Amino acid sequence: MTMKLPVRLTPYIKTRYPYNKLKICRRCNYFTVLGESECPVCGKFALQSAEERAASVLRRSFWRSRLIVLFITIVGLVLSGSAMQTALLAIGGTALLALLWTMQGRSNPALLRLELEKLFHREAYTLIAGLANDRETAIAVFHNGDKPLAYEMLREIGALVHTDQLRIEQILLLQSFVLRKDMDLMLEPLLMDHFNPDLVEYIGELAKIRRDLLKENAFRYILLYEAQILKMEHGESILIGVAGAAVRMKRYLTLYPYLVLRYARKLPKDRFLRLYRMIQSNPKSTFGPLYEEVMSVYNERYKWDEDFIQTHNERSQ
Ligand SMILES: [Zn+2]
Repeated sequence: MTMKLPVRLTPYIKTRYPYNKLKICRRCNYFTVLGESECPVCGKFALQSAEERAASVLRRSFWRSRLIVLFITIVGLVLSGSAMQTALLAIGGTALLALLWTMQGRSNPALLRLELEKLFHREAYTLIAGLANDRETAIAVFHNGDKPLAYEMLREIGALVHTDQLRIEQILLLQSFVLRKDMDLMLEPLLMDHFNPDLVEYIGELAKIRRDLLKENAFRYILLYEAQILKMEHGESILIGVAGAAVRMKRYLTLYPYLVLRYARKLPKDRFLRLYRMIQSNPKSTFGPLYEEVMSVYNERYKWDEDFIQTHNERSQ
C-alpha cells in the first residue's frame, strides 16, 4: 500500500453558477477556469469573466439600437417640413429613446443570461478545447509532484466538466492524501453511474470523518452496488461505516431501513446507541422490521449496558 500524503487543501470557493469562475481571454479567446488575470496560452493579462464578455456584447447591442433610434429621429428632424412636425418628431424620438432605455435596463438580467448562453453555444468548441487544456495543465502539475494543487485544479475544472475520467482522477488524488475532518471535501460531484471501487473506498473514508457528506445519492449508490462492494477487501467495513452514517438522520432510516438493518448488528457501539435512541424516540411502526432487528441486538448485547440503561431512564423520566 502506498503511503498517504498529509496535505493542506485550499477551501473550495462556491459560486452561484458553475460558469461564474469561467474566464475568457480578450486576445486569443481561450477559455479557462484556472487563471485569474493572466492567460495561460498567450501570457497576456487579458482574462475577463465569461459574464463580463457577455455583458459587453450586450452593452454594444443596446447602444446600437439606441443609435438607430437617434439616427432615425435626426433624419426625421432634418426632413421635417413644419415646426409642428419637428416638435412632434423631437417629442416622439425622445420618448422612444427613453422607453428603449428603460426596457433595456429592466430586461438586462434575462438578456444577459441569454447572451451568455449564446456565447457558450457559439464558442462551444473553444470552450471544450480550453477546458481540456486546463486538464492537461493539471496533469502536468501532478507529474511535477504538486498533488494538492493538481487536485485543486481538477476540482475547479470538475465544476464544469462532468466526465467520469475527471472524477476518477480527483478520487485517486484524494485517496493518496491523508483525509481530515477539517478539509473542504466533496462527494456529490464525484458520484458516478457505475461501480467504481476507488469511489467506494473514498465513500468509506468519508463515512469515518465526514458523515455529513453522505446524502441520498451516496446511499443509493452504495445500495445499488452493495453486492460488488461486499466482494471488495474491506467491503463489509465500508458498508458498516455507511450504515453508521445513515444513522445520522431519521430521514435516512426511513428511506434506507434495509441498509441499516443488514449492518445494525455490526455497528460500533456509539452508532448503535444513536440508532437505538432514534428507534426508541419514534413510534414503533415508523421503522418496521428495523425496529425488530434493533431490539433484538439490544436485548442480546446491550441490555445491561450502562449507556443504554441511562437512555431508558431518561425516557421513563
Ligand atoms: Zn490569451
